[in-house]
Amino acid sequence: MSSMGREAMTLLDQAATFSEPGPGVTRVLGSAEHQALLVEMRQWFESAGAEVSLDGAGNLVGRWAGTDPSARTLIIGSHQDTVRQGGRYDGIMGVLLPLVVLQQRQAEGRPLPYPVELVAFSDEEGTRFSSTLVGSAALAGTFDPTLLQATDADGVTMEQALRDLGADPAIIPAAARDPQQVSGFLELHIEQGPLLEAENLPVGIVTAITGIERHDLRIIGKAGHAGTTPMHLRRDALVGASEVVQLLDQLCRDTDELVGVVGQLKVIPDAVNVIPGAVEMSLELRSPQTRIRRRARDILLQQIEQALKARHLDWEHRLNYEQTEVSCSPRIQSTLAAAIQDQGLETRYLFSGAGHDGLAMESLTDIGMLFMRCEDGLSHHPDEAVTIDDLDVTAQTLDRFLDHWAEANQ
Ligand SMILES: [Zn+2]
Repeated sequence: MSSMGREAMTLLDQAATFSEPGPGVTRVLGSAEHQALLVEMRQWFESAGAEVSLDGAGNLVGRWAGTDPSARTLIIGSHQDTVRQGGRYDGIMGVLLPLVVLQQRQAEGRPLPYPVELVAFSDEEGTRFSSTLVGSAALAGTFDPTLLQATDADGVTMEQALRDLGADPAIIPAAARDPQQVSGFLELHIEQGPLLEAENLPVGIVTAITGIERHDLRIIGKAGHAGTTPMHLRRDALVGASEVVQLLDQLCRDTDELVGVVGQLKVIPDAVNVIPGAVEMSLELRSPQTRIRRRARDILLQQIEQALKARHLDWEHRLNYEQTEVSCSPRIQSTLAAAIQDQGLETRYLFSGAGHDGLAMESLTDIGMLFMRCEDGLSHHPDEAVTIDDLDVTAQTLDRFLDHWAEANQ
């Protein structure tokens, strides 16, 4: 077995030390820890033979020109930042593992016939400024400059945070890539789910990044004395809401490729001896297929209407967010499949239930993702864990992908 997995783990362990104190890893955009990691990573990129630059959005970009610098560039990348008290692998694994692979190729004198850029995106999670996909939007040319004036909890602007990183926000527009010059975007990421572990597979090919819709729902009943109002005369909004929770849960259990949750619920007036007069709640549905998600929405709204009507409750709802899914390119999926089959491994296809930089990169180029197994499917948590063996298989898969990608682009 090669040592790429072990080398990657060493770098990942080092990267994890660049964290605010406390459990897990906390590295938010422009923090002192982020600044320090960026300085360190720049050296790692340089010693791997890359030509390195920092763009206006704080993305660290390493470029290996290959033997035909006029060929279209493959972009590989993931994010440098974490959620608060997150793990050691979400994001940064997709930077440092490819770095090890590219370094190894450089050391072995196996250059590629096309340029590769490895991008460490500055901010994907949006932990500090509540604005996700900052780095990838800059590459895609969709960065919204008004975001620079967004402030964190202490009133510091994003513009200042980027300057603290050593980036010059004035040149963000120059980070936008010419779609004609890019052949695709590939991200390696931990699965953040339990499927690969359950099936004892180290890697899986992502078919799509999920679509998401969120609704605000308000159920209106009648508040009243909890002791003196007879049961048959009550219009208890919370009892109605509990049915809605059950309906959504059951519909998602009964439908393939659909998940959903009621994550927020506010009871009005929220008093121990008052019948709930109103409930405000969120509904979220996710699916990699718009057709499935919209059909589920229609069914759910119909079921809610029936259930609440039977309880003489009124209701209103508003769709407040809808992000269409992004499909992964068939060409990238089949190239990943070839790379996995080369190793005699089973190809498993799965969709991503979480958002990723591909959501922004899709407007620039074909996107694809390779998922790596993680322990208990856990992410955004200090106990996030992966094995050296899985890192190694993932590294081998990328190495072979890079060769197959040359064939796929002839
Ligand atoms: Zn991530």
